[in-house]
Amino acid sequence: MNKYAFKIKFLGTCACDFSSKLNAEFKNSFDLDARRSSSMLINNTYLVDAGDHILDSLRIANKNAEDITDLFITHTHSDHFNCENIASIASEKSEPLHLYIREDAQIDDIANVDIIRMTPYKKYCVGNGLTVTALCANHDPETAPSHFLFERDGKSIFYGCDGAWLLCRTYNFLKGMELSLAVLDCTVGDYEGDWRMAEHNSIPMIRLMLPSLKNAKIINSETKICFSHIAPSLHKSHKDTELIAKELGAYVAYDGLDMEV
Ligand SMILES: [Zn+2]
Ligand SMILES: [Zn+2]
Repeated sequence: MNKYAFKIKFLGTCACDFSSKLNAEFKNSFDLDARRSSSMLINNTYLVDAGDHILDSLRIANKNAEDITDLFITHTHSDHFNCENIASIASEKSEPLHLYIREDAQIDDIANVDIIRMTPYKKYCVGNGLTVTALCANHDPETAPSHFLFERDGKSIFYGCDGAWLLCRTYNFLKGMELSLAVLDCTVGDYEGDWRMAEHNSIPMIRLMLPSLKNAKIINSETKICFSHIAPSLHKSHKDTELIAKELGAYVAYDGLDMEV
C-alpha cells in the first residue's frame, strides 16, 4: 500500500466573490486572499470542478491539462462548471475526457468529452483503484448538486463544496467512515445571521457540526478537516481565519495548497 493514496493540490478555493486583482497583480500567481474558482486536483490526474478560472489555475500550478483523465463536477454553477474551459481541457487530449456528473444534471454534449451520469449513492470505479460516489448536497436544487466521496487504498476524501450542513441520507451514508480528509464548504465567516444558511456553511455552523460528525464516526482525531469555497468578502483575512480554524483542529485551504492523505 502506498503511504499516501492521494496527493492533492487545491487549484481554487473561492466562492463567487472574485477579486479584481486576479486580472492584474495576481494574473500569474496565487494569493492567500485573492482566490480563484473552487477546484481540486488529485494525483495530477483527477480534477474536481472546472469553473471560471480553471485554465489560469492549471497554468499557474504548472499542471498539464492533457494529464487529466477524469473530471468530477459537483454542480452546474459557473464557478464549478464552465463549458468553454472544459472544452479547452478536452481539446488538449488524444483520448476523451471522462466527465462525471449527477444523472439529473442538465448539460449539453462537449467535444471529446464522455459524460458519465452518476446515480447518487452508487459507487463508480474510476481506475487505478480509485472509486467515486456522488452524495446529494443541500444546495440550489436546479443545479443537481452533489458532494463526492473518493476512496482508494483504504483512504477516503469527502469533498463537500457547495452545500450547507449534510442531507439526512448523505449523513447516514457517511456514518462510520472515519474519513481521511473532509473538505467542507466554508463560504461564510465567523458570524451568525447570514441568509445563506440553507445553501452554504458558516464557521459557526461548522463549529456545531464537527462534534456531531465525530460522534457519528464520520471523522475521527486523525481526519484532516479543511475549509474551502471561502468568500473573502464574508471572512477575515486568510491568516486570521487560520487562527479560528486552528481552534477547531482544521486547516483553511488556499490556492496552490498541497496536501497528502
Ligand atoms: Zn460555488
Ligand atoms: Zn453553487
